[in-house]
Amino acid sequence: MSALFPALAAGTDRPNRPALRFGADALTYAELAAAAGAVAARIRDADRVAVWATSTASTAVAVVGALLAGVPAVPLNPRVGERELSHILGDSAPALVLAGPDEELPAGLAGVERVDVDVRAPGEPVPEPADPESPALIVYTSGTTGPPKGVVLSRRAIAASLDALAEAWAWTDEDVLVHALPLFHVHGLILGVLGPLRRGGAVRHLGSFSTAGVARELGDGGGTMLFGVPTMYHRLADALDDDPALVRSLAAARLLVSGSAALPVHDHERITAATGRQVVERYGMTETLMLCSVRPEAGPRPGSVGVPLDGVDLRLVDDDGTALEAYDGDTVGEIQVRGPNLFTEYLNRPDATAAAYDETWFRTGDMAVRDADGAVRIVGRRATDLIKSGGYKIGAGEIENALLDHPGVREAAVTGEPDPDLGERIVAWVVPADPEKPPAQDELASHVATLLAPHKRPRTVRFLEALPRNDMGKVLKKALPHG
Ligand code: ATP
Ligand code: MG
Repeated sequence: MSALFPALAAGTDRPNRPALRFGADALTYAELAAAAGAVAARIRDADRVAVWATSTASTAVAVVGALLAGVPAVPLNPRVGERELSHILGDSAPALVLAGPDEELPAGLAGVERVDVDVRAPGEPVPEPADPESPALIVYTSGTTGPPKGVVLSRRAIAASLDALAEAWAWTDEDVLVHALPLFHVHGLILGVLGPLRRGGAVRHLGSFSTAGVARELGDGGGTMLFGVPTMYHRLADALDDDPALVRSLAAARLLVSGSAALPVHDHERITAATGRQVVERYGMTETLMLCSVRPEAGPRPGSVGVPLDGVDLRLVDDDGTALEAYDGDTVGEIQVRGPNLFTEYLNRPDATAAAYDETWFRTGDMAVRDADGAVRIVGRRATDLIKSGGYKIGAGEIENALLDHPGVREAAVTGEPDPDLGERIVAWVVPADPEKPPAQDELASHVATLLAPHKRPRTVRFLEALPRNDMGKVLKKALPHG
């Protein structure tokens, strides 16, 4: 593997190219190399550092500095609760915490020595460490299904995954990414910050997501790509009807990418209808980095996460552990993967690391079907989204998509509950479009039965004001009132 950041190396041919912009903080490659070099020099002797990962230039400088120093960095969610913070600090034991000079750190971090990151520091550029296998980042999973696990990622895995995405998306140094995601998960940090820097392109962060910010920065504003999570595309889709400037911006972008959770088919369709553009969906995990993407040149594919990326070996496996040969769009199996993009281990969890593998194959816990052309459609997670009802295995995702297609439904989540007759009964959790007039339960059940099949209709519908979601907008099914 060559360097992770060729464009940062001393003697880069275009030092004055823009690298990062976070609000008023804009850094060229030369400025980033200097500021990250200063961080690297300061932390060189630490075994491990934490980064207070606000959506600021200091977070990007801190992480790049740690990567250059060869000191593993743990990005911390600045909105994290006390309990989760103490779990992560206890687990990862950082020697230092890097933060912007104006940040106020919580009491939980009082015992960790603080280093203020100066994004204007005149440091010396430093060369990257030689060993591609050494731990680079420790990223905690989203905690959707249980307490977050620390995922140890090497520079080799990060480089492999970013290069596979570059190939799939024709991502170059001309690209300017419009970014509004948090910087403590793979999507926002590795794809959204390290991705553009590896390519030699630029990233502009909006601070926080707004449809106005996207309209301003994308298209005529200079941004060529947008990375988002489904809740953002949902909000964009809602805004398009009354916002011609937003329509123009999305229509002028080179690439719109969605990931981290399934983008409902309904939102794909609304965006394409208003802008003529497709949203390219990709699928990945903290442990594996990116696994699949729709190929933009292959045309829209709502409901699919596309084909395995370069270097990714992917198979579907049935309950007995037998690899499935079916490409029939119907036979459901667990996705298992191999490739240079995989993590090293779960921090301090040899048990969990061992349990995550089926010999050499990593078990994703995600269930999917494959279409004739090899494209993968995720049915849901084995633990929460696969419902065994009346002798059928039913994925929550397609029922959620069908419910969202009903005009009276704003948000939907589907779970299974024990049922004496059926084994499990399909339960729909629905946020109605109009809380005063929720659609009738029978009407929703027959809507699903007509679109999909009678055995996929929800037997129970429960109305909520909002679905419980984490900071990436993922639905926390375990937090549903009786889920
Ligand atoms: P935890 O592992 O702590 O329970 P998590 O699995 O949500 O949390 P992440 O590693 O951030 O943590 O998320 C990976 C998961 O997100 C995948 O296993 C998959 O279930 C889901 N996912 C990611 N992209 C997509 C997508 N495009 N469509 C459907 N699901 C997706
Ligand atoms: Mg997970």
